[in-house]
Amino acid sequence: MFSDLGLHERLLKALQQQRIEKPTDVQLEAIPAAIAGEDLLVSSETGSGKTAAYLLPVLQQILTEQGPKEGTRALILAPTRELARQILKSAEALSRFTQVKCALISGGEDYKYQRAVFRKDPEIIIATPGRLKEHLEQGTPLFDHLEVLVLDEADRMLEMGFQEDVSAIIDQCNAERQSLLLSATLDQPGIKEMAAQLLSDPKTIQIGSDRPEQSTISQQVILADDIKHKERLLLWLVENQPFKKLLVFSNTKAQANRLRGILRGKKQRAAALHSEMKQSERTSTMSAFRNGSINVLVATDVASRGLDVGDIDLVINFDLSRNSDDHVHRIGRTGRAGKEGLAISFVTPKDWNHKVTLERFYQTKFEQRTIKALVGAYKGPKKLKSSGKAAGSKKAKLKAKAVAKANKKSPAKAKKMAKAKKPVLIDGFAPMKKKKPK
Ligand code: AMP
Repeated sequence: MFSDLGLHERLLKALQQQRIEKPTDVQLEAIPAAIAGEDLLVSSETGSGKTAAYLLPVLQQILTEQGPKEGTRALILAPTRELARQILKSAEALSRFTQVKCALISGGEDYKYQRAVFRKDPEIIIATPGRLKEHLEQGTPLFDHLEVLVLDEADRMLEMGFQEDVSAIIDQCNAERQSLLLSATLDQPGIKEMAAQLLSDPKTIQIGSDRPEQSTISQQVILADDIKHKERLLLWLVENQPFKKLLVFSNTKAQANRLRGILRGKKQRAAALHSEMKQSERTSTMSAFRNGSINVLVATDVASRGLDVGDIDLVINFDLSRNSDDHVHRIGRTGRAGKEGLAISFVTPKDWNHKVTLERFYQTKFEQRTIKALVGAYKGPKKLKSSGKAAGSKKAKLKAKAVAKANKKSPAKAKKMAKAKKPVLIDGFAPMKKKKPK
């Protein structure tokens, strides 16, 4: 129970109002340690309740300790605007029965307005590093009396190239502060260095392994020949697979826009979400998805960080993610707080080995599904290594490329080519052969 953790009664009231009753594992470990004033290094999984695990001790500190007359008391850094906005929402919900003021400082929003926000002197600031650093360079916020500094999704901040900005911000914060660092993984290069700069004698909290709890999320893969085949599969699933809310992942912004267009053409209530959209558009798209006026969202990875919509029951990886962390985050958008979810990934020849890596990571084999009406030419690698990865010869790779290319023009011809044992002609040239000695 949260009351056993010694939390302030106003915080308990807010938790009760949100029907949050039992602390999650990360909350059970992190809250008492943070309240005791320790620095923390936390490996936290998507959907583990990590946000409340640091917000509750931050609010507890503000409510129970006499603060300075002015200046920010807690600063929370997050990699993306969406995550920052999500953290603000949680902070406002948890501080509902208190006088604590929280504010958001992120890119894409009016700079002058943000200066006025600082003048209101909120106790908690939630910010993305780039924009905050701009303000710091203008001398606006003062972190001389900062009591707590939190870095959320630190791995993602490093990946997004925020290392220098974060480092500059840490340097400007009160050296006596308490610091908390949260990251999906603690093994990533750069995390140790960041932790060394930020934390002093931290308590490390690792709940289980870095591998997320997947019991409520089923994973399926569908083999696909190429983009056109994936588009047909997507449309089939949208029309035939029951769902309440569907999140589709694309690796590029241009493709996210294109898929949105295709889906709209089929009368689907679809929208795209990516970082090239204006902040106001992103905010209105997310609230349309949340309130159900759209039910299909095609997103890129960056845009989807922090997207906390409770009732997404289907995730489709139109493109398989480029790394395992992103895959974990993507499918973690479904199956939130114990609900059931389904994640379907399209796997083309170039994705096969990554699929095997993911299966090893989850220590399970994904269910391979075929859509009878849309069976393609690709049936998986002909030969497998003992690891399950493709025993790829150069010849096979060239052939797969040629089949994919031919498939754009004539799927029937591509099918024949895929079956053929003869060497494949690429761009009219036969592969080089060694001359036989005379
Ligand atoms: P997070 O891991 O912080 O992104 O949280 C994932 C979701 O779990 C959010 O929607 C939270 O509101 C919710 N949540 C946080 N703590 C708890 C808890 N102790 N019990 C149930 N749900 C929770």
